[in-house]
Order: sequence, then structure tokens, then C-alpha cells
Amino acid sequence: MNIHEYQAKELLRQYKVATPDGKVAHDAEEARMITKEFGGASVVKAQIHAGGRGKGGGVKFATDPDKAAELFKAMIGMQLVTKQTGAEGRKVRTVFLSKPVDIERELYLSFLVDRVTSRITILASTEGGVEIEEVAEKTPEKIVKVAVDPALGLNGFQARQVAFALGLEGNSFKQGVVFLQNLYKLFVEKDCSMVEINPLVITKQGDVTALDAKIGFDDNGLVRHPDVLAYRDLNEEAEEEVEASKYNLNFIKLDGSIGCMVNGAGLAMATMDIIKYCGSSPANFLDVGGSATEDAVKNAFRIILQDKAVKAVLVNIFGGIMRCDIVASGIVNAAKEIGIKVPVVVRLEGTNVEEGKKILADSGLNLIVAADLKDAAEKVVASVK
Ligand code: ADP
Ligand code: MG
Repeated sequence: MNIHEYQAKELLRQYKVATPDGKVAHDAEEARMITKEFGGASVVKAQIHAGGRGKGGGVKFATDPDKAAELFKAMIGMQLVTKQTGAEGRKVRTVFLSKPVDIERELYLSFLVDRVTSRITILASTEGGVEIEEVAEKTPEKIVKVAVDPALGLNGFQARQVAFALGLEGNSFKQGVVFLQNLYKLFVEKDCSMVEINPLVITKQGDVTALDAKIGFDDNGLVRHPDVLAYRDLNEEAEEEVEASKYNLNFIKLDGSIGCMVNGAGLAMATMDIIKYCGSSPANFLDVGGSATEDAVKNAFRIILQDKAVKAVLVNIFGGIMRCDIVASGIVNAAKEIGIKVPVVVRLEGTNVEEGKKILADSGLNLIVAADLKDAAEKVVASVK
């Protein structure tokens, strides 16, 4: 789960990680008042779950309170397009005002979980404010990487190593070390999967502060953090993904044209690979899990058909604990209830497969039954071509 910048900054403050004063404005008048409070100027920032807002017109400087009110009006409700949103952009529903900071240098800092080393890893670079992918491509030597031993936590020497690599000196160095240690504590205690501070800024006064903040959480840890869960913004999630999560189904939106209903993430990967191999690409995949009920299958099917990009559906189920007859009944019920207007290819294998196939055959529905995975992929790809 991801959260907004203003929410991430609330967490930073809780953990005494330095960040400029900031407040959400609910209307233009409030934007004016907050700007007055900040000493007559503010940075007006659109809150969407995507970066690159600055270049897209979602971060603007207000030199006086009236200007802040004007910027608020222009920003709220706008469809903000950035490099990360896709062409349709995202609607701005919240506007955050930040106290302006006199920037001396913009740095880059992130914490993430490195799956190769199974460690929280710190990435830091003196090249802040720009996208890190760009730095990684053109000047990879400018990125420092430090892996933290989970048993020891972030060692003082490691924090100093990062602060040094960022070129911090004197008081900024001391602040930087505290910043890193507090941020590490937040990362671990809140079960984060990613924290990105871009830019981390050294001010003209020599202070170290987080000008931007992006935090992602491990969904499996959310049950321990009702405060974090309360930050969830359903407007920022794909409609079908929200719907699927209501039934404990995993739905992932992709950009092709074939809807995929599978059980298990491994089978989902294999299914997507073979669709690509046969010359098309998946519109989504919906993982019904290892032991879904008939009702869950029905909902899964309905959610897949709701996706307008879906031109054909491939159902690929391997019955282990999951029984093929239950899957078949779910599909038949869903199809009868909502009607299917696109070709549906079904490949069933495993427990109760014969019963499952019989249910499909007896349903009178126009389903394409496939012999195996390869056959299924070829048939579904042919049906969209
Ligand atoms: P995004 O990464 O989505 O473009 P940022 O919050 O990083 O948004 O803002 C973009 C740029 O705007 C920053 O790199 C910084 O130069 C400037 N900026 C943002 N907040 C402030 C602030 N409080 N004071 C001064 N400049 C700011
Ligand atoms: Mg940024």
C-alpha cells in the first residue's frame, strides 16, 4: 500500500525525522491562512500517488497568500499528468502546503528491501531531485548502497558512511546521522517496503530535511498498523483491485487485452509468459488463491469482465486443494448472471477435472475448452487476433 506525501510526512514527524512544516488546505481561504502562518509564502503541492509532480505542474511556489489561494483553486480537481501517471493523469483531491525551504543542495535517499540479500538496503546519492533511474543509468558510481544486518540494525558507522557519501559536514553531518537512524526505526516498526526521500535537502542554514517523502508498506504487515491502514486512499487504486480485495482476491491491472483467472501466483506468471510467447499480452490477472469458494470464483469472473480492456478471458486452474468442479460452477453461474460477450478459454487440470469439464459442457455456454496450457494460450490469442 502506498500513501500520500502529507501522510508520509506525518509519520516522519512522529519519528522525529526532519521535514518542513506543512498542512493540508481544504479550501482556498485556508490556503491563504496557512501561507500567512508560514510567513507569507508557501509551496503548493498536489497530492497523488505518483512522482514527477514538479515537472507536471503539481508543485508551485506561492509568493504571497493571495497567490496561494489562486494556486489552490487551479490545482484542486485538476487532472495531473506526470511521467508516472500515464496519459490520462490523476485527479487531484488533496492539496498540501509546505513551508518554503532555502535549498543549498538536493540529495537522494531511499530505503528498500533488497530481495537478493534479504536486507533493508539504503541507497543514497548526491544527485537528488532527479529520477534515480536516470542517475543509475548515466552515473551509477554516484549511488552508494549500504545493506543493514537485521540482527544488528542500522549501525552508527553505516549511518556515518551514508552521511559522508552524501557530502554532509559538521552540524549537517550530525543531523544526517540522526535522520538516517530515525528513518530506519520508522521503516522497521511500520513494516515499510520502501521509503524514498527525493529530494533530501541541505538548507542554506545547514539543516537536513525531507522535502518530499514517498512511503510504501508491506500489505502483509498492515494488520499490525491500523493507523497506517487509515491512510489508505481508494481513489488512488484501480477500481477492480479495490473490488477484488473485498473478496480476498488478488487482482493486478496490466495493459494488454487478455483477462486471466488463475490460482496461485506461480501459475499466474507462467500464464502471462505463455500469452506473451504466443504473441499477445495480459490485460490483468486475478489470482483466486489456492482454496477459493464457488462464490469467490464467480466474483473473480465478474471483476475480470468488468475490465473494459479485456477482449478475451483465459481461465487457467490447476486443481490441488481447489476443485475443478467448484471452479466450473463458479464460471457457469457468473456467465449466466452477467452474460459473456467475449471469448472464454478454459483450461482445467487436477482434482475433479472430469466433473469440472462436464459442468462446462452441460452448461450450454459457448466456452472454449483447452487441452493444456499451450493449447489454451494459442486459442485465447487466436480469439483476439
Ligand atoms: P515530485 O518529486 O513529485 O516532483 P517534490 O516534492 O520532490 O515533487 O517537489 C519537486 C521540487 O520542488 C523539489 O525537487 C524542490 O526543488 C521543490 N520543492 C518542493 N517542496 C519544496 C519546499 N518546501 N521548499 C522549496 N522547494 C520545494
Ligand atoms: Mg520528489
